[in-house]
Amino acid sequence: MQHGRSSVLKLVVAAVALAGVARPAAAQDAPVRVITGASVANLEGGAPIRDAVVVITGERITAVGPAGKVDIPAGATEIRLPGKWLMPGLMNMHVHFGLRLPGAMMQETANETDGGLALRMAENARLSLLAGTTTVRTPGEARDAIFAVKSSIDRGEHLGPRIWPAARAIIPTGGHSSEPVLDGIDGPDEVRAETRRQILLGGKWVKINISRGLASTGKIAAADMTIEEMRAATDIAHRQDVKVAAHTGSIQATLDALEAGVDSFEHGYFLNEDVFRKMKEKGGWYVPTIVVSQAGAMEFFRKIGSTPFYLARVQMVGKSHWSALQAAIKSGVNIAMGSDQFPFEPNEGTVASVREIELYQQAGMTPVQALRTATVNTARMLGAEDDLGQIAVGKYADIIALDADPTLDTRALRTISVVMKGGTLVRHDADPLAVVRDAAR
Ligand SMILES: [Zn+2]
Repeated sequence: MQHGRSSVLKLVVAAVALAGVARPAAAQDAPVRVITGASVANLEGGAPIRDAVVVITGERITAVGPAGKVDIPAGATEIRLPGKWLMPGLMNMHVHFGLRLPGAMMQETANETDGGLALRMAENARLSLLAGTTTVRTPGEARDAIFAVKSSIDRGEHLGPRIWPAARAIIPTGGHSSEPVLDGIDGPDEVRAETRRQILLGGKWVKINISRGLASTGKIAAADMTIEEMRAATDIAHRQDVKVAAHTGSIQATLDALEAGVDSFEHGYFLNEDVFRKMKEKGGWYVPTIVVSQAGAMEFFRKIGSTPFYLARVQMVGKSHWSALQAAIKSGVNIAMGSDQFPFEPNEGTVASVREIELYQQAGMTPVQALRTATVNTARMLGAEDDLGQIAVGKYADIIALDADPTLDTRALRTISVVMKGGTLVRHDADPLAVVRDAAR
C-alpha cells in the first residue's frame, strides 16, 4: 500500500471543504460585459448571427442576438471584436496535465515531488486555457494532485480550464501504464475501494485501463480487466452520478466494458464498426485521441526523446486507429473530442485540440459535426449541457474568437486570438491590455 495515503487524503478533503467557501458575487453587483461587432457561428447548422451582441452578466450569457435587437445595458464594458467569429470554448475530454511519457521526459521528472507535480500541472492547465480549451476532463492523473489544481483554479488562484477530474487510473497489476504496474488494483473489492476513495476526493469520472496501449508492452488486443472488476467500478461510480471512462485498444475488452455499463471509451485503436454500433446502442461515447497516432505526433514524440520502441508502436497503430475513427463516424456513435496530448501542444502547425478536430473533418465529419464533438455534444457527455457548450442565454461565457467561420472549415480554429472563460478575458492578442483591465475589475 502507499505510504501517507491517509494524511494526503485529509489534506485534500480539507481543501475541498475550503473551496466551497468562495462564492461568486451576487448577480446584482456582477460586472456586465458586452461583445460587439463579431458574428456568432451556428453549431446547429443554420445561419450565423452577423454583427452580434453578446451580453454577459458575471459569468453567464444573459442576452445574444443581432445588433439593434439586443439592449446594451448602461455601464457595460464593451469588447469590440469586428470581423471576428465567436464560438464556445473548446472542450477536450482526454487531457493529462501531469503527462509523463517514456524517454527523456520520464527521466527529467523522475524525482518530482507532489508539490512539483501540482505546479507543473497548473502551468499546463494555464497554457491549455490560453490555447482556447476552456473545459477538460482528466482521465488519469497521478497522486491526487488534480483535485488541488482544480480547487485552486476554481478559487481563481490559477488560470485554467474547468476541470472534470478523474484521479489515477485503476490498473490491474501488469496492465497499461507508462511504467510497469507491479502493485495494481486487482479484483472487484480493490476496485470498489479505490473508486469510493476517488469519489470522496471529488472525482467526477473514474478511469479504468482495460487493455494495453501505446506506452505499455504486451498485446493491445487482449482484455486485461475482468468484467467483474469493470462492474465494480461502474456500480460504485453510478450510485454517485460519477461516470467511468475506459482506456481501450481491444475489441474484447470494449465488448466486456459495454456489458459492464462503462460510459466512455478512449483511443479504441483496433475497434471496428460492429463494436461502435453496439456502443451506440448502449449510449456509450467514443473519445478518439486520434492525434496521438498520426503524423503530427511523431515530431512531438521525437522532441521528448521517446524510445525507438515507442515510435515503432505509434507507427504500427496509426493506420488501424484511423480506420477505427472512420468506422466510428460511419456508425453514428457519440463522439467527444479528446487529444491525450496537452491541448496547447504544437501539432502540424496548430495545437493538439485544434488538430484533433481537423482530423475528425478529414476522416469524414462535416465541419459542424466536428465542432460539436468539442462543444455541444461534449457538454452532453459531461451532463453539463445546461451550463456549457453553446453561446446561448444561461450558459457560462466560455467563448473563443476566430478570423473565419469554423462551420465552413475547422481550419478556422487555427486563428484563435481571443479566449474568455466565465465572462473574464484571459487572452486578447490584438489588445493584451484588455486582459489586464478585465482582471482588475
Ligand atoms: Zn491518456
